[in-house]
Amino acid sequence: MSIMKGKKGIVMGVANERSIAWGIANILAQQGAEIAFTYQNEGFKKRLIPLMDSIKSNICFECDVSKDKNDENSIEHLFGKISEIWNNIDFVVHALAYSDKEELKGKYVNCSRENFLNSLDISAFSFTRTAKSAFPLMTKNGGSLLTLSYLGAERTTPNYNVMGVAKSALEASIKYLAMDLGKSNIRVNAISAGPVKTLAGAAISGARHVYRYSENVAPLNFNPELEEIGNSSLYLLSELSSGVTGNIHHVDGGLHSVGIPKSEDLE
Ligand code: NAD
Repeated sequence: MSIMKGKKGIVMGVANERSIAWGIANILAQQGAEIAFTYQNEGFKKRLIPLMDSIKSNICFECDVSKDKNDENSIEHLFGKISEIWNNIDFVVHALAYSDKEELKGKYVNCSRENFLNSLDISAFSFTRTAKSAFPLMTKNGGSLLTLSYLGAERTTPNYNVMGVAKSALEASIKYLAMDLGKSNIRVNAISAGPVKTLAGAAISGARHVYRYSENVAPLNFNPELEEIGNSSLYLLSELSSGVTGNIHHVDGGLHSVGIPKSEDLE
């Protein structure tokens, strides 16, 4: 099976082999996709290169989504560089987020203005900028844009705080972008993943407890593996999901569907 044969796209957000972005890239590569990667800065590049080698990929660019459009490492410049090597692309994976670790604990009510704006800029607005910049490269055949969300967008989860607010903004953006870009056959979706042990995940205070609770309470009694998120991404990024847009697809063992957990799960 080579579902992605002949498809080209960009994966943003690989920090290391545990990153969700890497889980997605791995599956896409196995299915024949040609992938260009982005890395936030030189420190991340060192970890990315061996991973890229393992799937015989050799295109990568620095991109810090907090940079202004005039900066050479901005989102806008990234797509300018991509257009010099590819006339069109078929998909973009946006798997990145940031908030000050000091505010991923305690009460949301204490969130600073500076961190609120920064978290929403990096974790939510960057996806809209990415969609706008990717658009000119998707006008020929359409395309698929995918981002990553979490249950904390819909309900409170401990210490997620402003990141939950940012993910809510991200999820609303998906619907508006899906409407704006639908006529061009560009689909826009998110995966709301259950907890995964990654660098970003570890920044949230008490992550271990949430991880264990989710595992116990989810109907499937597990937290997702990278491969499971990758497989669902393959569906959303390929023609298999040609009728799907504006959708938040939960890959969380069914955790989002639980109201009150079974009493034995709480013991
Ligand atoms: P990760 O630490 O492996 O990846 C986070 C990435 O964000 C890193 O590659 C980092 O370089 C990038 N990033 C942060 N600020 C950036 C900036 N200014 N410019 C460019 N890149 C920047 O963690 P992950 O868990 O794989 O996170 C990927 C996505 O999945 C995030 O959106 C996260 O919120 C989401 N998510 C994670 C979990 C989880 O439990 N880990 C669950 C649901 C959703």
